[in-house]
Parts: sequence; C-alpha cells; structure tokens
Amino acid sequence: MKKEGKPVISLSQLEKIAKAYNGSPNGGPALDFSNTQIAFAGKDNDELKRTEWLFKLMNNRHLVSIGSKLGMLGTKIPLPFFESAVKATIFKQFCGGTTLLESQPAIEHLHELNVDSVLDYGAEAKESEDDFNRTMNENLRAIDFGSTLPSVPVISSKITGLARFELLEKVSKTDATLTTEERGEFKNVLKRVDAICHHAAQQGMSVFIDAEETWIQPAIDLLANRMMKRYNKEKVVVFNTFQMYRTDRLAYIAESFDLAKTHGYLLGAKLVRGAYMEKERKRATEMGYPSPIQPNKDATDHDYNLGIQFCIENHESIAVCNASHNADSNLKMAALISQKNLPKNHPHLQFCQLYGMSDNITFNLAKAGYNVAKYMVYGQVKEVIPYLIRRTQENTSMTGDLSRELTLVMKEVKRRGI
Ligand SMILES: Cc1cc2nc3c(=O)[nH]c(=O)nc-3n(C[C@H](O)[C@H](O)[C@H](O)COP(=O)(O)OP(=O)(O)OC[C@H]3O[C@@H](n4cnc5c(N)ncnc54)[C@H](O)[C@@H]3O)c2cc1C
Repeated sequence: MKKEGKPVISLSQLEKIAKAYNGSPNGGPALDFSNTQIAFAGKDNDELKRTEWLFKLMNNRHLVSIGSKLGMLGTKIPLPFFESAVKATIFKQFCGGTTLLESQPAIEHLHELNVDSVLDYGAEAKESEDDFNRTMNENLRAIDFGSTLPSVPVISSKITGLARFELLEKVSKTDATLTTEERGEFKNVLKRVDAICHHAAQQGMSVFIDAEETWIQPAIDLLANRMMKRYNKEKVVVFNTFQMYRTDRLAYIAESFDLAKTHGYLLGAKLVRGAYMEKERKRATEMGYPSPIQPNKDATDHDYNLGIQFCIENHESIAVCNASHNADSNLKMAALISQKNLPKNHPHLQFCQLYGMSDNITFNLAKAGYNVAKYMVYGQVKEVIPYLIRRTQENTSMTGDLSRELTLVMKEVKRRGI
C-alpha cells in the first residue's frame, strides 16, 4: 500500500492520461509528461547520473530516517562535514543557493528552458521581532533582485516568517480579544506584510502568500484579503493560497471571488492540495473537533480540479497558479485552456512546481508554451534543513517500490544508454 500523501500515478498511467487528452492542446506540441528526453534536456550525462544516485539514496527509508535525525541535530549543534555533505547533495538538488546571487545561475538555466522562478526564502517559523524584520528585509531584497531579472515575476512569503505563531492563532480565534500589546504587535505584522506587497507593486512583481495550518489560516486570509484589496486593482500583485485538502476551501474560493467583486479588485489564487495533513488530523483527534481535511485523496483531487476549473471559468478576474506535482491536475488545466481557446501564455494562467521535482511536468509544459515556474528555495543550509527533510521524505519508498522521480530519471538514463 502507498503511504498517504505520496504521488499515486505510475509512468504507464501518465502515458495513458497523455493519450486521453489527445496530445496537442491549442495547436502547440503534444503534452506528454512521460517524455523524459524533454524533462531532462537541461542535464548533461554526469548531472543525470548524479541525480539518479541521489534519488536512489533517497528511496531508502532507513537512510532517510537517519539523515532526517542528523539533519535536525545539525540545525542545533555544528556537525563537522555534515553541512558540506548536505550542500553537495540534497541542497544542490532542491535549492538554488545559500543567497540570491548564488541562486542566479540556476535561475538563468531555467530561463534558457523557458521556465520562470519564484523566489522563496527557505527560513522557517521565527520567534522574535528582529527575526521577523530580517525575514521582511530578505523578502524586500528578493523583490529588488527579482525585478532585475526577466524570469522572476514573483516571490513567495510565509506569514509565520513575519509574525509570531501564537499571535496568528489568537487573531484567528473568533472569540478572542487581543490585549493592547497584541494589537500593537499585529499592527507591526500588517506593516511588514504591507511593506512587502507595496514594494512588489512598485517593482512590477507579485507575491504568493503561502497557506499554513488551519488554526492560523484565518489570520493569514485576513492579511491576504487586505493586501489584495489594496494592490490588486489593476493587475494581480498578491495571491492567497487555497489548500484543497480542506473540505471548506472550494466554497472559500467562491467567497473570496465574491469579496473581490464587491470591492472591485482581482483575485489572485494559488491552488495547492496542502502540506500539513497528518498534523491537522492529529490535532483534530486530540482536541475532539471534526477534521478539516477531506475524507480521502479522491475528495481532495475532486475539489482541487473543480477549484482550477472555477478559476479558469473566471480567468478574466482571477489569476490562477496551479501549484502541483499531480500530472492529472496539470493535464486537466492544459486541456481546459485548450477547450476555452485561451492563449497558453495568458498572464492569468500559471503552473508551478518545486525546484528539483517533477521536471517531467515543468519542462514539458514549458516546451509546449505554457507559463510555468519553479519555486526556487534559497537560504543558509542550516535554515533550509526542515524543507530539505520534507523533500527527502516525499521521495522515500515505504514499500520498496521506486519513487516517481527515480523511475523517470532511470528511464532517461536507459534511453541515453549511459
Ligand atoms: C509550487 C508549490 C507551492 C506550494 N505551496 C504550498 C503552500 O503554500 N501551502 C501548503 O500547505 N502546501 C504548499 N505546497 C505543497 C502542496 O500542498 C502539496 O503538499 C504537494 O504539492 C503535493 O500535492 P500535489 O498536488 O503536488 O500532488 P499529489 O501527490 O497528487 O497529492 C498529494 C497531496 O494530496 C493530499 N492527500 C493525500 N492523501 C490524502 C488523503 N488520504 N485524504 C485527503 N487528502 C490527501 C495531501 O494534500 C497531499 O499532500 C506547494 C507545492 C508546490 C508545488
């Protein structure tokens, strides 16, 4: 049995789906996510063999389990050689660099293959006002940096990098009253988020506001809605993120759209399935409230695809980013664009995957002429360890099967005969 949350589509299923969608939406080259020649065209033989070696290591769950524990230890105490080993292996696969400048070659390489980059400062949840200001300044620097490059239209921002988790939790509770001090603290959060969105608007960039846990999401939604109201009048500067593994989010997309229409702004909607499923379910069980998560994967997929469809139907007033590694959802969006006869590079229609993952989807979409980008995570090795651990766990086999990524890399190695 597959572990929950893991991709469930096989290579042969990919081939079947590609045939079912009949290849060539909007007259461009056929979309076939099993085409590994296009997927790995950006890698020479040595790079491809290194990638194969790395995904083989990640496929081993014992190794990943030991590596994850060492990784968490490495964030607390200095472990000799650990940082350099991580940097030469998984960091290189999933991150652009330790700084913006160090990430530039990776960004330019993607640009040569018609793929944009979304700058994502990888440092996770912070605690102090100094830390929050540092994250804000890092986001502002990313906007400046991105505005000088032709293939960086957007940065992503996590509100937990800019605000105290407990404060967001309190703001999210409908029955809680903030103390005077907390009200001042939240005003500072608003100022930080506004500084980022304002700067993005001035520099011609956009901001994706990431979605997080349900018990802090109302505060994040509040901030995102305020920013969209302020900055999305002429074009979409700010995007909120909708996690479709939640039972209430399909209705919330429609509600957000109504709000946007009422106040005369455009809706920015980044759709994801959601990254905190186990944590959400565990908390709901422990605290005795109904789980906010869909009962099964099919229900998540159903709402995800309907959400994409809703946004495309309303693409004149909604800019959508389909942020997913799910082949079926990507093909469905391409097919809808085709059915509606919309330009593949319409500025309101975007696809996005994480750097180092699902290259078969990214580069095949790019080759066919769609707007597609990679989340380009950057930051000091220590800062991005939790992100790297999540990526390695996604590529681990619980069953002894080969992971989807490894299967694709091996197919290309075989095709090249190396
Ligand atoms: C560019 C990008 C940006 C992202 N930004 C965010 C973000 O801001 N916030 C965030 O939370 N996540 C974010 N994610 C992660 C995302 O939410 C998913 O966890 C991840 O992409 C896997 O989902 P998928 O659509 O790629 O594909 P799939 O592999 O098809 O789906 C796996 C996902 O399906 C859902 N799922 C799995 N099993 C079940 C089940 N039994 N019942 C119900 N649902 C189930 C879970 O959400 C799981 O992660 C982002 C991902 C990408 C690619």
